Parts: sequence; structure tokens; C-alpha cells
Amino acid sequence: MIRFHPSAQQLKDFVEGTLSPAISLMVSAHCDMCEKCQRFVEIETESLAAQMVSNANSSVSDRAEMSLQFGDMLSQITQLPSSKQNNALMEQPTAYREPVKRRAALQAQASANTIELDGRVFTLPRTLHRYIDKTGNWSSLVGKLWQAPVDLGNQGVANFIFMGSGGSVPEHTHRGTEYTLVIDGEFSDGLSRYDTGDFIFMDGDKTHTPKSEGKEGCLVFSIVDQPLHFTSGLARLLNPFSHLFFR
Ligand SMILES: [Zn+2]
Repeated sequence: MIRFHPSAQQLKDFVEGTLSPAISLMVSAHCDMCEKCQRFVEIETESLAAQMVSNANSSVSDRAEMSLQFGDMLSQITQLPSSKQNNALMEQPTAYREPVKRRAALQAQASANTIELDGRVFTLPRTLHRYIDKTGNWSSLVGKLWQAPVDLGNQGVANFIFMGSGGSVPEHTHRGTEYTLVIDGEFSDGLSRYDTGDFIFMDGDKTHTPKSEGKEGCLVFSIVDQPLHFTSGLARLLNPFSHLFFR
């Protein structure tokens, strides 16, 4: 069950488009997995749009009528097929005559929802689908950890991190911020337990040791804006190199 959500402020900033694109990506991917936040975003979006219309038409006396018209407009927009659906409709006659080609296309579409590690297939939230072909190869790190970098263009790098059963990230603090979305599985970090869909925000105040205890391990999507700072034992020796991974 999802227990950790973006804050109401983060969701509002998301709707208003004031979050950095990388954080916006995390919030959007969480909303794909979380009905509660999805609903919150829908309501905020409607109220923001209504507010914009009402600002633009402050001279119009009959606001009720305006918002009625706006509702019509919204429902028209939402009923418009996306360009992808449009293409599918247009291609239908050809596809009907060429079932083999169509099947191949469908398979390609299905495989673009998932990433794979060691024969295990993980289905990603919709928002992350377009980053699948920007995801690099898995590399093995310390402590049963696997990492695959995701190129976010000018927004830097995110990472898929897989913690095998019993795997852990050495205890660390953050100079910057760390956002983590649990894609599959669960883990704990000495502060809390997290489950699939949880949205976790960490900053410089907190020290934690993420660890996967479940049998299946745990896949997370993570964005850090500064290298981690390891705080205990031998892991401290990693600090000079921490910019090489976990970011
Ligand atoms: Zn949520």
C-alpha cells in the first residue's frame, strides 16, 4: 500500500508547472501509480484552468455560464483522440490487410513498457515509458546493487537501482536532495518501510541506509542532485568516488 506521497505543495507546483522537469517526472510517475494523487492533480488542474478562464474574463458578468462553456470545452478536448490514436485509426485499413506487420508493431509497443534485469521483467509507470530507450546497461555495484543510468537530457541523470534480496546502499547523508520512487518491491532504510508506489524525498537533514529485505528484491527510480555522502565504516572510502554512481 502506498503511504508516502508528494506533499500537497509539490502536487500544486506540479500542476502549475513550477517544479524542475526532473522532479516533475518523478511526481508524474508517482501519479501513474497512485489514484489518490491522480485525483488531487485532476481537481487542482480543473481549478487552475477555471481560475485562468475567470481571470481572462473578469468583465464577463455571467461567470456561471462561462464555467459551463469551459466545462464543454474541457470535455471536448479530453474527448479528442491523441495523435497516436489518430494514426492508429488512419493506419487501420492497411493494418487489417497486413496482420503480420500489425502484430509486430503491437509486440514492439508491449515491450516498450518494461525493463529487464537478469530475466526479470519490470513494468514501468506510463510516464517513464519514453525513457526506456534512454536507459543504459545495468552495472553491478557493491552489496547486491545494480544500477542503470537514465539520460534525462539537460536535466542530468536519473537511475534505476535494483537492490537484490538483502542488498543495501551504505549509510549516507545528502548534500543535495534525493527523490526515490519505488517501482517494484519494498525496502526499508532505518527510518521507515516503503512499498511499491511510495514517493520518497530526502535532503541533507537525514541519514539513512536503504536495504531490501523482501525475497524479490526492490527496483526504485532515483534522482539525486548531488553525490551521496557516505557516513559509516568502510563505505566512507567511497566518498571520493560517489559521483561515479548513485547520481
Ligand atoms: Zn500519491
